[in-house]
Amino acid sequence: MSDCLFCRIVRGEIPARKVYEDEHILAFHDIRPLAPVHVLVIPKEHVDSMAHLEPRHEAAMGRLLVAAARIARDQGCTDGFRTIVNTGRVGLQEVYHLHLHILGGADPLPPML
Ligand code: C5P
Repeated sequence: MSDCLFCRIVRGEIPARKVYEDEHILAFHDIRPLAPVHVLVIPKEHVDSMAHLEPRHEAAMGRLLVAAARIARDQGCTDGFRTIVNTGRVGLQEVYHLHLHILGGADPLPPML
């Protein structure tokens, strides 16, 4: 998946405003923010979408969720935030590298599907 946009961000070939990185996970500000805080959290290992998850991904997805909670807190979303995982054509997924949106920083957040 060398030409995947988010794999290229992981490799540093495309710039991103990173907010967190470890061995398994990268988080960066969305380039078209829909809220004052809009961060994408991705596994570094390529997975097309949530629909492509298999039992072998269980540990990675657990790490992703726990990291997302910490990142949201670090971004100041102490009173709550929204998480979205768009999946597939029907789910309006644009980038086919699984990612979790964290949206926050407004009280209340504007309604969004
Ligand atoms: O969940 P979905 O696939 O629809 O969203 C992809 C997101 O990736 C969009 O919100 C878009 O703004 C973001 N993006 C980004 N940096 C890029 C390309 C897309 O933050 N270089």
